[in-house]
Amino acid sequence: MTKHDNLIGAEWVSFGNYQDNINPSDISDVIGTYSYGDASSVEAAVEAAKSAFPAWRDASPQLRHDVLDAVGNTIASRKDEIGRLLSREEGKTLAEGIGETMRASQVFKFFAGEALRQVGDLQASVRPDIEVEVTREPVGIVGLITPWNFPIAIPAWKIAPALAYGNCVIIKPADLTPGCAHVIAEILHECGCPPGVFNLVMGRGSVVGEAIVTHPDISAISFTGSVATGHRIAETCGRLRKKVQLEMGGKNPMVVLNDADLSVAVPACVNGTFFSTGQRCTASSRLVVEAGIHDEFVEAVSKAMQSLKIGDALDQATQIGPVVDATQLNSNLDYVDLAKTEAAEVIGGERLELAAKGFYQAPALFVGTSNDMRINREEIFGPCGSVIKVADFDEAVAVANDTEFGLSAGICTQSLKHARAFKRQAAAGMVMVNLPTAGVDYHVPFGGRKGSSFGAREQGRYAVEFYTTVKTSYVFAG
Ligand code: NAD
Repeated sequence: MTKHDNLIGAEWVSFGNYQDNINPSDISDVIGTYSYGDASSVEAAVEAAKSAFPAWRDASPQLRHDVLDAVGNTIASRKDEIGRLLSREEGKTLAEGIGETMRASQVFKFFAGEALRQVGDLQASVRPDIEVEVTREPVGIVGLITPWNFPIAIPAWKIAPALAYGNCVIIKPADLTPGCAHVIAEILHECGCPPGVFNLVMGRGSVVGEAIVTHPDISAISFTGSVATGHRIAETCGRLRKKVQLEMGGKNPMVVLNDADLSVAVPACVNGTFFSTGQRCTASSRLVVEAGIHDEFVEAVSKAMQSLKIGDALDQATQIGPVVDATQLNSNLDYVDLAKTEAAEVIGGERLELAAKGFYQAPALFVGTSNDMRINREEIFGPCGSVIKVADFDEAVAVANDTEFGLSAGICTQSLKHARAFKRQAAAGMVMVNLPTAGVDYHVPFGGRKGSSFGAREQGRYAVEFYTTVKTSYVFAG
């Protein structure tokens, strides 16, 4: 069994407490065993980061570019192997695993470029002979806390901007999926990232995560995960006056109007609702369908859903892999039972026993639901979608926006008027027209509104807001 340790400064450090990383497609497959730290491990990482920070802050942008570019190239050159690891530890299909790995590579290469493009403003003062300069500086040591469902892309889109803008990093990946973050740590180490600039501390959220959030020398926290954890972190950061960025849950609506092209709408809804086993914060969990197309749409989606091949993530024929673990599977099955209690018609959703022992579930469609049901208010985070029938466009928008979340919202229509109106009226950070609610670009901002997100946007050039702080300098040149 391969043992994996934590990266602190230039050293791979064992804190004992090895935990097995189990393949959800086949629980007899143990991927490796990972040493989980505690508060004293975070302390060691902070000391390493504090020593490294002055030199990294003042480093030439060329060095930062070269490290990030080399990391991006290395990830791409190892995409098949890393993608396979990702699929083994998280359960998404191999194609999705390799695709997500390539996304991580692209993110590192994008921020390699951004490291060279840091700009400031030189302005004339309103007073004579004075120049005003507005520059951006790194915030210091940043703590990054990531979820299990995108085990390489989310660490990448936090680590790359943090380093590009001159911060030092301590990352705690999800305890269910430490493997991909460990590989990023190995690659950063090999690609010349100076010791202490990047530190990996694996472990439990309640132990290592808490220690990162509360450490006085960590200036900012970027978190992606559940609403409950995010709110807790926000409260702590508020009390400690730390900069904080939260990306949390979703209950994303996909509106399907009577004039939708079903050859576009059905694949968009099937992809958005069920792919990656529905374990995407941007999944289309509420399908809000206009009455005139409702029956035809439900028939087509349920037919497409039932033809999806569920299986081992590494099997090339698989379209939907397993649920990530037993806890998530049991929660999903409870929601299927709840849908029945709430008098929805339930198609699919049953536990599947396949040849290999894994956490398999058939995708579920809940039909005849109303937006006030719990299945439509709470994030399920599994391969489950609800259909909500509405009378017209106005009701569709009202239902779409009637949620505590606001991450992504989609519409399928051939009407330019309705597409434009929806873009304006959707109370979400991202809007998709004739596209699945999930599936985004890496060079533009990612994030939501209301209960889904808090703080500055992630990704693209907008990432500079979170990972830097502004300085205004006045120079008398008289
Ligand atoms: P989670 O909140 O359980 O865990 C997220 C991370 O926080 C993990 O690393 C965990 O160990 C850590 N953590 C847990 N308790 C902590 C604490 N007290 N202090 C500090 N850290 C702590 O979430 P999860 O189950 O890993 O991920 C699923 C959730 O993530 C879903 O709700 C999903 O919608 C959300 N998500 C959101 C986005 C987005 O960008 N909006 C993207 C992916 C996933």
